[in-house]
Amino acid sequence: MLVRLFSVVMVAFLVWFGGFSYLRHRVNGMETTHLSAQTNALQMVWQTIVGSYATSMEAYCDIYIQQEPVFDLLRKARQYREQGDETNLAIVRVQLYRLLYPVYQRLQRRYVRQLHFHTQDNISFLRFHAPHRSGDSVEDSRPSVVMANRDHRIVQGFETGRVLSGFRNVFPLISQGEELGSVEFSQPFAALRRQLSEMDQTRDYKMFFYAPLLLPKLFPEQKKLYTPSKFSPDWLVEDARRELLDSPPDISPAAQTICDLLAKSSAFTQALAVRKACSIVIKTPDEFWRVTLLPIIDVEGFPSALMLSFAPDPQVKAFHRNYFWNVFWLSLMVMIGAGISFQFLQKKRALQEKKQRLQLITNTMSDGLLVIDKSGDISFVNRAGTEIMGYALSEMLGQRAHDFLHPHEEEQGEALPCPLCKLLKDGNSGLDFHGEDEFVRKDGSHFVTEVNASRMIQERKHVGLVLIFRDITERKQIEDELNQLSHTDPLTNIFNRRYFMNVLTMEAERVRRYGAPLSLMICDIDHFKRVNDTLGHLVGDRVLQQVVATIEQRIRSTDIFARWGGEEFVLMLPHTMLADAVKKVEELRAAISQTDFGEAGTVTASFGVTPFRGEDSIDSMVSRADNLLYLAKAEGRNCVRSSE
Ligand code: GH3
Ligand code: MG
Ligand code: MG
Repeated sequence: MLVRLFSVVMVAFLVWFGGFSYLRHRVNGMETTHLSAQTNALQMVWQTIVGSYATSMEAYCDIYIQQEPVFDLLRKARQYREQGDETNLAIVRVQLYRLLYPVYQRLQRRYVRQLHFHTQDNISFLRFHAPHRSGDSVEDSRPSVVMANRDHRIVQGFETGRVLSGFRNVFPLISQGEELGSVEFSQPFAALRRQLSEMDQTRDYKMFFYAPLLLPKLFPEQKKLYTPSKFSPDWLVEDARRELLDSPPDISPAAQTICDLLAKSSAFTQALAVRKACSIVIKTPDEFWRVTLLPIIDVEGFPSALMLSFAPDPQVKAFHRNYFWNVFWLSLMVMIGAGISFQFLQKKRALQEKKQRLQLITNTMSDGLLVIDKSGDISFVNRAGTEIMGYALSEMLGQRAHDFLHPHEEEQGEALPCPLCKLLKDGNSGLDFHGEDEFVRKDGSHFVTEVNASRMIQERKHVGLVLIFRDITERKQIEDELNQLSHTDPLTNIFNRRYFMNVLTMEAERVRRYGAPLSLMICDIDHFKRVNDTLGHLVGDRVLQQVVATIEQRIRSTDIFARWGGEEFVLMLPHTMLADAVKKVEELRAAISQTDFGEAGTVTASFGVTPFRGEDSIDSMVSRADNLLYLAKAEGRNCVRSSE
């Protein structure tokens, strides 16, 4: 039982594990597809916003900066710088500041944080956000400026800086072929985040900066603005205490909780290491959050910043809820299935044991036992059954019993139906069968069986037959022999008196009904006593046998010849008129008298012959024949006497 239980549990576990793996694989697949779609959507939105800002910055530059008054001042500044006239250079710087301050104010309202002019050799000329700081080289910290001045092209993109990081738009300033340096419009992350929030309010966004790229560039006093994030010291948070005016508002407390949990998420750590745009799921007790990582590549092609977006994800929640319920139903079904299978196996086992016990018990029987189910197939057979039939057990089980044991020709009509088929067909209404039948062994030999067939009734339904059978061939032979003996005279091997009387009675009945002629003859050997007395009993016996042989050779197969007793014999001649009978008896008499009986010499016999009369009884006919015989004896023996 333990083995069975273990097997069922193992199979159930394998089925469950297969189902579970499939469900797990499916939910993972759905989640991956969904997350990847979300990542792509955010990437597209981000690129659209960055692109639209870049376009507006180009427009601002065209409208506000690429103007003659600005070029004039820049030309002057270039002149004074070349002459080393720092005083006039400072004056021009102030003039430029005054000229563009209203523009700067307007740009600030458009979320432009920096308006910064540089000379063509990458020296800071005027920072509107820090006008007192100028004359420093930005060559090391601002590759966007170097590229714009060197290549005379617009450079747009993210870049860290000495003061602040942001999205840079650097435009080379060239007037009538004269290189006048470059101007830069920078936007903080807050500006883009505001735009992102307008497009999708369900998400929170936060920007992180890559410390190894950012820290070497910063002015020392700026460094205190950056603090390490909770998930990695390599990634810095800008203005955590929100000292800057245009710092983006903090993310929601819920999103902040998720952000704090990131350090513990291995999926996030892996995603961070790969630095590719992707989304991961962070689970809280009652919510599923989607965190999308968007690495931001700077103008030099380095991933120097990272934007994280946080949003509760009802879709992922639904996936997981469905997954949970699917696993629950799967487990339940597997458990129920295992329970049913175990019960089934137990029952099957019990049935098998019962069958084995039955087989063991019935194998001790000398009679064959067969169980036939309702459809006529053999469902059980004991050892004696197989031995009698000459088959192996496996050859018999499941076979059609009727065709197998009992191949009668298909029954013609209802006249002589096979009793077993009838019993099987009749079901509840039939009677059990006890009798003889003929079965066929495997080797094709037929044998007579004594069959006891009983119907099996289960829950009032007829479910088949139980057959107990035995080979009675030997018994039949003995019976036949006994039967033979019972109507045969042992010395002469012809019928005895009892049998003759039976046949005579039947024949007389027939004659009475149909009126055909019938004649009877009785004979007695003459002076037989003498043979016995002089030659002995054995010679007497041989004489009796020879007389019988002499008569038997001369009568018809339809005539019934019997020993009446002692040395007296009777002959019944059906369909024979008296005259014909007398003729026949005369022939017999002559034949006996002419036969050579060896040492007994010649033997004769006397005969009485009479027909059956309509009014006769058996006794009256026999006694008339007997009287005629005595008459023959009286009238000299070796003669035939007859009368109508
Ligand atoms: P009858 O001509 O008047 O008939 O004279 P019988 O000698 O034949 O007279 P009976 O009928 O009295 O004798 C019959 C004898 O047949 C007597 C008996 O010993 C003998 N017998 C009867 N049955 C057998 C038999 O089975 N074997 C032998 N050997 N003799 C038998
Ligand atoms: Mg006699
Ligand atoms: Mg005699």
